[in-house]
This record gives sequence, structure tokens and C-alpha cells, in this order.
Amino acid sequence: MGEVRENEAYEEELLDYEEEEEKAPDSVNGKPAVESVKKGYVGIHSSGFRDFLLKPELLRAIVDSGFEHPSEVQHECIPQAILGMDVICQAKSGMGKTAVFVLSTLQQIEPVSGQVAALVLCHTRELAYQICNEFERFNTYLPDVKVAVFYGGVGIKIHKDLLKNECPHIVVGTPGRILALARDKDLGLKNVRHFILDECDKMLESLDMRRDVQEIFKMTPHDKQVMMFSATLSKEIRPVCKKFMQDPMEIYVDDEAKLTLHGLVQHYIKLTDLEKNRKLNDLLDALDFNQIVIFVKSVSRAAELNKLLVECNFPSICIHSGMSQEERLTRYKGFKEGLKRILVATDLVGRGIDIERVNIVINYDMPDSADTYLHRVGRAGRFGTKGLAITFVSSASDSDVLNQVQERFEVDIKELPEQIDTATYMPS
Ligand code: ADP
Repeated sequence: MGEVRENEAYEEELLDYEEEEEKAPDSVNGKPAVESVKKGYVGIHSSGFRDFLLKPELLRAIVDSGFEHPSEVQHECIPQAILGMDVICQAKSGMGKTAVFVLSTLQQIEPVSGQVAALVLCHTRELAYQICNEFERFNTYLPDVKVAVFYGGVGIKIHKDLLKNECPHIVVGTPGRILALARDKDLGLKNVRHFILDECDKMLESLDMRRDVQEIFKMTPHDKQVMMFSATLSKEIRPVCKKFMQDPMEIYVDDEAKLTLHGLVQHYIKLTDLEKNRKLNDLLDALDFNQIVIFVKSVSRAAELNKLLVECNFPSICIHSGMSQEERLTRYKGFKEGLKRILVATDLVGRGIDIERVNIVINYDMPDSADTYLHRVGRAGRFGTKGLAITFVSSASDSDVLNQVQERFEVDIKELPEQIDTATYMPS
């Protein structure tokens, strides 16, 4: 397979977001944050959603969604978040962070016609689309509250018309498009009461994206609730996040070293690049899976590998940023609905994306960092279910990343054994 390494992952989103020398931004508000760090992962919490005293319309939607108990992170965050407190929250993938800000925003919002009251920013279109869907799911019995999603790749005129004719109360989007709409005064941010960043480390680490976020932030009123979420929040990025907040409640559900996903079985295989296709074929034949995501390092490798799998009659599709926005979303939706069982992807779907049926992740190409590894494998075993992650290691630098993963997250990743017991990774 070709070794052409392209600008990968977020290349469309981050077209202009080259990493630059890191320097702290100006303080957005001068107030220092008060630490109230909570720790300890205990899985699904025993109290009920009813204890949060949510609107009956929301409780009804929660029941419809099949949520029986709040997760640890929901239990820790929702009671304070619905009171309008600023929240900075790190909890591993798949533990229901989205529902924290979706429910607390819907709980608090009082829709006023023509006014945007909540703004959610995230770094990819797929994630924006997914978050919008979550709002719509919990919004079912609050028909007056309107949500819309805005990202690049869609004609801006459509968004401008929508804002003019049916102004939503909740806006979800990627920073580039939101900033363009706000600068052109189509999107009014003066009434924003809730400002949310999902995958906040990703959004604030790159200086250019941070600059966009800051510019948007400054267009919103001073008096508002700010909430930020991610599965990875390094000690370095936390102060940057807190500059956007006032006395935030800090929730770190388990510290980083213990971030490994419970219920996820992780293995590696040492092989050469040339042996990868053969091995993958064998694995796909041998393993039981509901749905599987295979991560590769470039757009061209995604397209080629997918072609190969399709030729071998595997039910595979690929998603990467080399395809049109429309195509990407159609494919993503199709996979989410289970139309195909194998997805070949770049890191575009490495973060935040939630596909229930995925129980195996294969790193066909090693991710570039320990963080990316964690985000990728977090696609399997969502919400405490079982899953399996297999990583191909084919070079010394691959081994380095694997070692970093093991050190950083205190996990012992063993070589894939000859036989692997299906019961250890297939949901029962
Ligand atoms: P995170 O943002 O922490 O990675 P998500 O918000 O994507 O996780 O949630 C992962 C999955 O768990 C989603 O499919 C979501 O619908 C589901 N989920 C969230 N909270 C609950 C709950 N309390 N009970 C059952 N399922 C839940």
C-alpha cells in the first residue's frame, strides 16, 4: 500500500490551524479558578435521573432513550451544571459527557424567539452533527426549543437564511463557520447564556483554533455559563481552559493514569507493513464482531485499504476528509445505522464519535501519540460495554508510541494470543 502521508485527520477543519509555538492566551477573565477536584471512578451511579429534579419533558425523553441511571460523570456534573455553574470535566470516552451538557442546557434554557441562548463548539463536523442529534433526542418533548448545526462545507447562504428565518435557540458548530457567521452578523451571540466546548483540549491546543474560539467567546456576554469537556485534559491545558471560566467546578473522573477503558481488552501485533493486509484479513475472518473501526494514518491509505476489503467481499466503507462533506455524513450515518459493519477511517472519527455497536478497533497504522491512541480505542466499548483493541506495530517509532501509551495510562498491552476468548470482548 502507498506510503503517501498526507495532512491527515482534521485537515479540512484545520486547514489554517497549523500548530504554532504555544503561548498562553490573554486571560479572558481575570478570576482564578477554585479547585474542587473530585476523583474516583465507580461506573454507573446508583441514584436516578429523577433525583436531579429535571423538567418532566426531559425525564420523559431520558426514559425514551433507555437511560436508567446516570453515569458517574453525570452524577458528578449535572446537579451543579443545571444551576448554571461553570464546569470543566474530564472523564474517559463513552461515559456520557455529552448528555451532561445537553441535559443541563435544555434544563435551563428559556427559549426567546430570534435569540441564540446556547452555543456548543467542537472540532469536527461529524461530532457537531452527533451533538445536534443528542439535543434533538432530548428535545423531543420541548418542541419550542430549536437546535441547529453549522459547519463548513455546506453553502453559507443556507445557514444565513436559516438564522434569519428560523433562528435556533441552541447552535452547535465548528469554530470556522461559527466565526464566519458571527463576523457577518448573521449569528447574534449577545444573548448566549451557555457556552460549551466539547473536546476542549483539542480546540484549545492548536493556537489558531484557540484564537477563533476566543474571538467567538468575546462576542458572547460576560455573564454566562461555560462548560468544557474532554477525555484527555493534560495538566498544561487545564489552566488555559480555566481562563475562560469563573470559579469552575472541576471534575476529573479518575486521573489520567487510570484512564484506560474498563472492559476494553487491548493487544498488539508485531509485523511488517507488508504483512498488515494479510493479518487484517485473518483477523476479520477469525474475530466475532458487531461493528469494527480500522484506523489508518492517511486519506490515501483509507481509500486503498477500503477498496481492498470491498474486493475481498468484506462489508466495508471508508470515511476521510478527502471526500465531500455530504458523502462523509451519508457514510457516517449509514455506518451508525449498521448498513456496513467495517469502517476504515482516519483520525477524523477518532474522537468523540459514538457508535454503539462498535466493539473492535484495529489500529492498522499506529496513532501518532498516546492521546490519539486513547481516543481511537475509546470508540469500542462505549458506556462500559466490552470491547477489543488491536494495534499493529511495524516500526521502532510505533513501539515508542505503544510504550508511551502503556506508561502514560498504566496499562499493560500484551501481544495478541493465538486464541482470544470471544466472551472477553463481545457484549453479552
Ligand atoms: P462521551 O462524550 O463521554 O465520550 P457519550 O456522551 O458519547 O460519551 O456517551 C456514550 C454513549 O452512552 C452514548 O451512546 C450515550 O447515548 C450513552 N449514554 C450516556 N449516558 C447514559 C446513561 N446514563 N445510561 C445509558 N446510556 C448512556
